[in-house]
Amino acid sequence: MFFSLNNKNHLVTFQQAVIQGLAPDNGLYFPEKLTTLPQDFFDAIENLSNEEIAFQAIKQFVGAEIPENELKKIISETLSFDFPLIKLDENVFSLELFHGPTMAFKDVGARFMSRCLTYFNKNKNQKNTVLVATSGDTGGAVASGFLGVKGVDVVILYPSGKVSDIQERQLTTMGQNITALEVNGVFDDCQDMVKKAFLDKDLKYKNLTSANSINIARWLPQMFYFFFAYKELKKLNKKLIISCPSGNFGNICAGIIAKKIGLPIAHFVASTNANDTIPRFLVDGKYEPKPSVATISNAMDVGNPSNFIRIQEIYNNDLSEFEKEFSSYTFSDEETLFEMQNIFANTGYISEPHGAIGYLGLKKEMQNHADCVGVFLETAHPIKFLDTVEPTLNITLDIPKQIEHVLNKQKKSIKILNYDELKVFLIK
Ligand SMILES: *Cc1c(COP(=O)(O)O)cnc(C)c1O
Repeated sequence: MFFSLNNKNHLVTFQQAVIQGLAPDNGLYFPEKLTTLPQDFFDAIENLSNEEIAFQAIKQFVGAEIPENELKKIISETLSFDFPLIKLDENVFSLELFHGPTMAFKDVGARFMSRCLTYFNKNKNQKNTVLVATSGDTGGAVASGFLGVKGVDVVILYPSGKVSDIQERQLTTMGQNITALEVNGVFDDCQDMVKKAFLDKDLKYKNLTSANSINIARWLPQMFYFFFAYKELKKLNKKLIISCPSGNFGNICAGIIAKKIGLPIAHFVASTNANDTIPRFLVDGKYEPKPSVATISNAMDVGNPSNFIRIQEIYNNDLSEFEKEFSSYTFSDEETLFEMQNIFANTGYISEPHGAIGYLGLKKEMQNHADCVGVFLETAHPIKFLDTVEPTLNITLDIPKQIEHVLNKQKKSIKILNYDELKVFLIK
């Protein structure tokens, strides 16, 4: 079962949590129990396929609500691409999470969630509306993951002029059951409108659900990456440190859950851009969100990270528990650009702004640990940020086939100014 972080007595099943997205009291859902995986699973992990690992990791959260054979099918469709671990130097690796259909790591969560919803809607006549706010990559991944899914309409809100050209095309050119709403504002405005819609009684009949990482079916499958990294690096027999470029803190929170069910990760680093709410929190334990500021790593331009409350739950909101295994560092755009050049000059590796921030945080934390091995998550393909990557590294990128096919499509969006206009659109 899952409980609402606003009320531990409000318990729902996996299915209910996926369909509702957010609890009726506006709380995020959190698993009631975390069961450690058996030691023989970790002893033999290098012999298991990614699909088997993912199945073992997620099974306890899904329970009996999706039969094992169906869950295995969902996982196999979700993980239909590679997650290569690239060695940059003796003990630093990049885990590339961008080989899916929209070249963003959010493909995994979006594909898993859409297939769970399809399974739950199979014998029902009801329609769900998936409402999602995006600061960049979520929109494209959700649009692709849900395209053509029966019984589900998808409405994506994105901040006008604040996503890259490729990101915008990915979320505005799908058609079918996908609609893009272009909001005159920043990401936080989009996220606030989505939250408001969930609480709006007039919209109850629309069966709204979220496909942001607040939804457990988007959030939890992100655990898989951390298992894949461990599977590859176990043989080095060293302390493992993983750095996640973080915005809403869903990805890193899934990694911490992986640790809580037994995965041997010694330390987590949440690397952020100028949106430094969490690095500031770790100084004095005060959570003081700020309006988001625009940076070159726009998928992390989040001033009030929605998943942080889950991390506070895990660490009992106690700074001394955080400190044992969790750090968070902030980096400016200048540092990010400089590091992209450094990485390229020293290793030949082409990173993009989000990955470079992950690298910066990893390097900083590794100074505190002797004899460790570090992984940073490369969360997007450099082509997604080509306006930054090409001039910074003085290179020309080849356009991958996943991107090529959206480039000549026509953008289609509906401009909205405020919540009332969103509501009118949803009710029409
Ligand atoms: C969404 C995203 C992030 C941040 O992930 P969170 O789970 O929100 O912390 C980082 N990089 C890229 C490219 C993203 O799209």
